[in-house]
Amino acid sequence: MSARESIIPVFVPHLGCPNDCVFCNQRRISGEQLPAGPETVKNAIESAAAFLPQGGKRQLAFYGGSFTAIPVCQQQALLSVAKEYLDRGDIDSVRLSTRPDAIDDEILHRLRAHGVETIELGAQSLDDEVLILSGRGHTAEDVENASRLIKARGFKLILQMMTGLPGDTPEKDIETAKKIIALKPDGVRIYPTVIVRDTALYDMWQAGTYHEHSIEDAVQVCSELLPLFEAAGIPVIRLGLNPTDDLSGGDAAAGAYHPALGEMVKSRIMLKKAEQLMAETEPGSSLILEVGRGKTSQMTGQKRCNLDYLKAKYALKELKIKENPALGGEIRLIRIEK
Ligand code: SF4
Repeated sequence: MSARESIIPVFVPHLGCPNDCVFCNQRRISGEQLPAGPETVKNAIESAAAFLPQGGKRQLAFYGGSFTAIPVCQQQALLSVAKEYLDRGDIDSVRLSTRPDAIDDEILHRLRAHGVETIELGAQSLDDEVLILSGRGHTAEDVENASRLIKARGFKLILQMMTGLPGDTPEKDIETAKKIIALKPDGVRIYPTVIVRDTALYDMWQAGTYHEHSIEDAVQVCSELLPLFEAAGIPVIRLGLNPTDDLSGGDAAAGAYHPALGEMVKSRIMLKKAEQLMAETEPGSSLILEVGRGKTSQMTGQKRCNLDYLKAKYALKELKIKENPALGGEIRLIRIEK
């Protein structure tokens, strides 16, 4: 999505889902209780018209369910309204999210006829054991086949993956990321597992059969994943669940829920880069870390955690951060001779 493209979201919670994946309670995650109908689409587009900036692109997005698995007449009712606004130029494109086992040529033909441009697939993992333990009801091969078909038919493809699912390990998460990269999506969303109330995962956690994927676990593994996607030129368009009042108010019982998770991961990546540069540092040194424009807070870390850690680990006398606009995402180490 470009900087001037606005999303008009319509949530279709659990519509079309053949089962409940163990981690999922879309009503709590999205904050929406009622399924969307044609009126919801109409209202979303018309109310967005009042506050979205003029001149920018507008994309209608059906999120939160398995769009292409809902009864065809319901799909058509929702898409037909969207198409009317598309044809009038009130919106510029349509995207939707769905399951990998709800994609075939006939479905894609229908989406194409209604002007859908982007399809998001909830891949979640490309490890079959993790998919089984998470109650997904599809295989890794389903993800690969659906992804290839979507791309072959000319749609934009966004793949969603999760970390810390039942049966998962950081190694499996990294393997999933590599397999996703091989599928060449146009973007990726990474959702570290959150334990949401009223889910099977919550019960598994309470029973001790699932161990929480903590914020620290998520930051650690995602700081490995992000550079992989970056090196492959695949944008990570979201990291972590969007914060909502319900999740922050207690529906997120445990797990990797933090409104600033993405920033924490970027901050950890900066820390790792700094550690590489400091490997040969003598105790008692005074150093300046040069970072790109606007990167000071990422380098510093939440509550100065990166700076405090580096100072203690390398027994530094002094450590300062200075911005250098020429550096972009890289960092540079300068030793101060005293
Ligand atoms: S994760 Fe997706 S497919 Fe699974 S229950 Fe939730 S919305 Fe449905």
